Amino acid sequence: MAIPLQTIEQIAAANDIVEVISSYFPLKRAGANFKALCPFHQEKTPSFHVSPQRQTFHCFGCGVGGSVFRFVMDYEHIDFPSAVRKLAGRVGIQVLEERGPRDAEDRQPEARRILLQLHGEAAGWFHQNLIKREFAEAARKYLKQRGITAEIAKRWRLGYAPDEWNAFGSWARGQGFSPRELLDRFRDRIMFPICNDVGEVIAFSGRVLKEKEGAAKYLNSPETPLFRKGSVLFGLDKTKRALIETNCAIVCEGQLDLISLFEARITNVVAPQGTAFTETQARMLKRLVDEVVLCFDSDVAGTQAAERSLDALLQNDLIVRVAEIPAGDDPDSLVRREGKEEFEKRIAAARDFFDYWIEKVSARLGVPVQDFQALIPKQSRSSGIGADESRPATGGTPPRHDVAMLCLVALRDEAARDFLREQNWREILAQVPDAEILVRILETELRPNDAASLNAFMATLSATDEGLVSSWLMQKVPPNAGAMVEKWWLGIRQGALRRQLDVAQNRIKLPQLSTGELVNLQKEVLDLLKELRELPKLSSATRIDGQPVDPRQ
Ligand SMILES: [Zn+2]
Repeated sequence: MAIPLQTIEQIAAANDIVEVISSYFPLKRAGANFKALCPFHQEKTPSFHVSPQRQTFHCFGCGVGGSVFRFVMDYEHIDFPSAVRKLAGRVGIQVLEERGPRDAEDRQPEARRILLQLHGEAAGWFHQNLIKREFAEAARKYLKQRGITAEIAKRWRLGYAPDEWNAFGSWARGQGFSPRELLDRFRDRIMFPICNDVGEVIAFSGRVLKEKEGAAKYLNSPETPLFRKGSVLFGLDKTKRALIETNCAIVCEGQLDLISLFEARITNVVAPQGTAFTETQARMLKRLVDEVVLCFDSDVAGTQAAERSLDALLQNDLIVRVAEIPAGDDPDSLVRREGKEEFEKRIAAARDFFDYWIEKVSARLGVPVQDFQALIPKQSRSSGIGADESRPATGGTPPRHDVAMLCLVALRDEAARDFLREQNWREILAQVPDAEILVRILETELRPNDAASLNAFMATLSATDEGLVSSWLMQKVPPNAGAMVEKWWLGIRQGALRRQLDVAQNRIKLPQLSTGELVNLQKEVLDLLKELRELPKLSSATRIDGQPVDPRQ
């Protein structure tokens, strides 16, 4: 990972975790913290907590938790660098990766900003045309026929590009853009804004009102630093959550199909925008779901699109099924005629792609289906849903109580942390089971009172360890942490010495020891006993009476 630690801390400091999480779903105040139903497991009473003070989240139901980066990674199903870039973008911090910028987007933040602004303004302008202007009457009529109300048009910011639109052209030229290149191609078309996954308009798709000869039914924006063809799925900014929740994507051809399904409350939908699935789109989808149901028109073009999509989808280990769409229908007309429940039945009844394909091919060739099936190896047809590593991890088993308490104070209390770091902690913890996490906490340069520093530290941990650390960040620090830390540490040292003593005493009992070995072991035992006896004196300040300390008391 090539993003400097300093930048990560800076990004953590600028992104308030309460604001970030509230932008996905509402949080309720509960004392010093915020609460919600956990988005990572099913529950009826909220056990998902967010601490504004510690800038961390933790679910006491399923154990997930951690930094603002972990939340975005788990919620959006994206990797760490993507989460960092996303949060950086949110607060206008530029991420300079040490390996050099990835693409034009990073190199040209200013050009990108202006381009985003242009698309945002253009979407607004197209939309106003559709709603208000006289010249958009035919477009309004068309949409009304297709069941698109004004409210739906508003929600999807649908618009209309007239034949002439000089007013917008001069605005865009003033911004240093040549609208000829970007937008002039759209004339007399219904405009569908294409958004990135945070809902910013990055391109348009324009649909003709009346199908004319020689004019493409759909026309997309040219490639820009914001938009690469075949790397965007229409509607994903609105449907992502439903995709993750259902683990299944209904794929339809056109924007209107998607909008109709979404408005009928079938929300786990994506549209590759008129073309077959690309490798990039399939990869994007695999991060969200394991299964895909193709819902293409039953005409020749639809069948071909389905067949062309197959490679990319199967290569990404997606299970592919095909829903039966009656001839002359599309998902839009079907859901409007039959309603949500009937449509869902079609999705549930969708067949495995191979069965569908075999039937088509055998009909075409006049070969009985069974003969054909025998030729296809069964194995490749059932890529069942396995364990998915990208799902949020559930909490790990916490270390024993004394180690856990030392972790807690080492994370939270400056003085306690300093005390531990002055001890020979590496040597001692090497002998203590489950202490790896405490070693990580002690060896890292983190500042207990700085939430951004804690977030940056958590970003270096596995999901399981991060869940543990966030649970410690949510707990209260014992009021006398300074005295407690010495007591617990003493307990750890005594435990370690006793284990060494046990080992030495057992070895003395072994047969066939040489005299020299025996003497050495006896000396070791005596030394260990002496050390153990002297231990309480080392920490007289804690008024320990020489009895072994059980930190569990
Ligand atoms: Zn949970």
